[in-house]
Amino acid sequence: MAAAAAALLLSARRGGSAARAWASQGIRPLHTVYQAVELPETHQMLRQTCRDFAEKELAPVAAQLDKEHRFPTEQIKKMGALGLLAMDVPEKYGGAGLDSLAYAIAVEEISRGCASTGVIMSVNNSLYLGPVLKYGSEEQKQQWITPFTNGDKIGCFALSEPGNGSDAGAASTVAKLAGDHWILNGTKAWITNAWEAAATVVFATTDKSLKHKGISAFLVPMPTPGLSLGKKEDKLGIRASSTANLIFEDCAIPKANLLGEPGMGFKIAMQTLDSGRIGIASQALGIAQAALDCAVDYAEKRMAFGAPITKLQAIQFKLSDMAVALESARLLTWRAAMLKDNGKPYTKEAAMAKLAASEAATFISHQAIQILGGMGYVAEMPAERHYRDARITEIYEGTSEIQRLVVAGQLLKAYRG
Ligand SMILES: Cc1cc2nc3c(=O)[nH]c(=O)nc-3n(C[C@H](O)[C@H](O)[C@H](O)COP(=O)(O)OP(=O)(O)OC[C@H]3O[C@@H](n4cnc5c(N)ncnc54)[C@H](O)[C@@H]3O)c2cc1C
Repeated sequence: MAAAAAALLLSARRGGSAARAWASQGIRPLHTVYQAVELPETHQMLRQTCRDFAEKELAPVAAQLDKEHRFPTEQIKKMGALGLLAMDVPEKYGGAGLDSLAYAIAVEEISRGCASTGVIMSVNNSLYLGPVLKYGSEEQKQQWITPFTNGDKIGCFALSEPGNGSDAGAASTVAKLAGDHWILNGTKAWITNAWEAAATVVFATTDKSLKHKGISAFLVPMPTPGLSLGKKEDKLGIRASSTANLIFEDCAIPKANLLGEPGMGFKIAMQTLDSGRIGIASQALGIAQAALDCAVDYAEKRMAFGAPITKLQAIQFKLSDMAVALESARLLTWRAAMLKDNGKPYTKEAAMAKLAASEAATFISHQAIQILGGMGYVAEMPAERHYRDARITEIYEGTSEIQRLVVAGQLLKAYRG
């Protein structure tokens, strides 16, 4: 995978001037002007590579995949070869060995082309590989990480249940030790990548009397006897990514598949969701950027009263509010990623980033629909697709209220010392 990371970085070098490269390939330039000095060279190259990939391989098929509920198998394989499915996994386990900032940038660019592909990538990186890398034994890392780095296999993360989402500590799925096996019973809900996953990190209660301290984490191969899938949820957006129930009925897994120590499950889940928030914030940024690009593109071409509508101050005000919301959310997201990379606490910052980015995506997509006028209400129009994806992003992995609670809790903790 070192070669894949190198390929990713090297391919970013080609092309020289981005504008010239885009023009020669018939690719739309971004309308947002970045200060190139903001990012290290490695990250700028990575961003360019991901942007090229998203423009060429994802954007042209995103609407169709979404409509047909179709998993982007071919594209995920190519992303695996580029190192995008195991970005911060060390090279010795087959990962790209990059940092969280690189991950945030890559998820944004991929989501700009296809928000479904962005969430598939985000879940494999943050929610599946993340906890195995942090809490797995050496043997578990070899078995449960390496085959999931190159796009051949992907993983999922099963915490939510029909009766508990925000209140994750109230898990009713149980795991009982019987000889050499754990026997799992219960239903997990809203599981991203469920239909395509070859493994899941699943959370189940091993000692009810200890409440959330009695939850443990397990590694479960998929498919496996005793584990069945529910129907794909018929979501408003990000439909190329499957979301379904995992139903455990006397599902026996080896004793060795416990991840971490018994009772560590809640801590593993909460720490995993911190970094998951950086991924989902980045997905929202990609949706927001695509909606802004779409609005600017349309407003420059749409003539009204003898001039493009970009000449109208009301449209300019909208575009500037959209750009400010996007840039602020991006800075928060990159800050959370950089704090993580520097080994600093980032729980509050990741929740702030996800709150700001998901609200920015919803706001910007809604404004884009306004700018597109009647055209925006046609379901096939990109602005409509981004709006639907934005709504889903806002509720995915907890709603805005939950991000507010995390931010408030962390703030108060800091004030109280
Ligand atoms: C597209 C999608 C993909 C998902 N993928 C996964 C996945 O891969 N793995 C997984 O485990 N889960 C996944 N989820 C589940 C997601 O994490 C939950 O939907 C989320 O945690 C919210 O839980 P809930 O839906 O049960 O809402 P509830 O917890 O029932 O919340 C309902 C409402 O009450 C509010 N609320 C709840 N508690 C409070 C409170 N204390 N204070 C104020 N307001 C509150 C909420 O903000 C919300 O508005 C996914 C969800 C979606 C939509």
